[in-house]
Amino acid sequence: MKPAKIKLADLARHRLARHREERSDVATYPKPTMHTDPNCIFCKIVAGKIPSKKVYEDEEIFAFHDINPWAPVHFLIIPKAHILSMAHVEPEHEALLGRILLLAPRLALEQGARPYPEGGFRIVTNTGAEGGQEVHHLHFHVMGGPRPWLRG
Ligand code: AMP
Ligand code: ZN
Repeated sequence: MKPAKIKLADLARHRLARHREERSDVATYPKPTMHTDPNCIFCKIVAGKIPSKKVYEDEEIFAFHDINPWAPVHFLIIPKAHILSMAHVEPEHEALLGRILLLAPRLALEQGARPYPEGGFRIVTNTGAEGGQEVHHLHFHVMGGPRPWLRG
């Protein structure tokens, strides 16, 4: 049998499809209406201006590894919108907060936390100075993995 001839047009179409697939995980920037702060380190991470080790991303949520892990698994889940802290959440954020909390167990397992009850994970949200908050963009620490941990 004669080998099938590859048409140039088919090749171009194939390349375009591959290109789109490869780009499907490229950061989707916050909606133009979403509040962001150009001086905020986590807003810069969401915008790709500061590199991070991404764990998850969708239209309104971003998750990435903590640069200073306390535990074998330690990542942060943040809303893309610049919400200062848990002291600043409003009823309009109800669904977003629910989605973040539903995501945490799934991502914890994906990142190597062992299943409940032997394994498990810890979710921490520091709020304000006395709450130990250093970065003022709402974030949920998710920590897990075999103990001992460095902290927490
Ligand atoms: P908190 O004390 O709850 O505000 O925690 C802020 C967390 O952000 C700390 O655990 C830091 O290690 C982490 N952090 C700060 N800068 C970065 C960064 N560029 N990439 C990843 N994690 C970061
Ligand atoms: Zn921010």
